[in-house]
Amino acid sequence: MNQALPDLWALQQLDTQIFELERSLARLDTGAETLRRRDEAKEAAEHAQARLQKIEADLTDVDLNIKSTEAKRKDYESRLYSGKVTNPKELDAMEQEVEMLKRNSDRLETRELELMEDQTSAREAHASARQVLAEAEQELKETLERSAARRGELEEQLAGARKARESQAEKVSDMDFALYRKYEGLRAKLANVAVAPVAGANCGACNIQIPGYLIRDARAKDDIVICESCGRILYPEG
Ligand SMILES: [Zn+2]
Repeated sequence: MNQALPDLWALQQLDTQIFELERSLARLDTGAETLRRRDEAKEAAEHAQARLQKIEADLTDVDLNIKSTEAKRKDYESRLYSGKVTNPKELDAMEQEVEMLKRNSDRLETRELELMEDQTSAREAHASARQVLAEAEQELKETLERSAARRGELEEQLAGARKARESQAEKVSDMDFALYRKYEGLRAKLANVAVAPVAGANCGACNIQIPGYLIRDARAKDDIVICESCGRILYPEG
């Protein structure tokens, strides 16, 4: 076997490791989806709060309106029964006014009851929206923490693998510079995989069967053997 081949295979394994670590880093959950869910929950909670506040403001208005209507009615009634007003036309007008104010009060009280029902349902909706928001906040926090921890791990592994790769590449290029160049050329063309171990009697990369004499050559001779199907350097001890 070519004497640099075991070291070249070790280099390939480091390059594969680096490739996978880089891919894992690129695919790391950045929390975008949980952030979107949190923002949605936040908007829903704000909406529920605004609805509740609107209902409560309306209730205050209705309540004030009821009080002022009642006050006006009492005012008319006390003047009406005070005996000070004697003009029948004026008394008629005042009685009509009292009736109108009573109808207004009834209408306002109905409205107040409706609003109180709305307030109950709006309070429940607000509480539940806030609960959903709290859960979404927690999920986001956990996702970001997990993601940061995982990123740290991967970056540390990657730094270690790159360092090991550097010295392994130096070792191989010192042993056989032409082979190292060939390896780098193939790796650039063949999706980062330039060396394929022989698995059983097959190429470990493209899985095609390798003729027995080629495997024997790879073991016995100093020449390297290339897979006829995928063009990768075969490592016979894989
Ligand atoms: Zn192959």
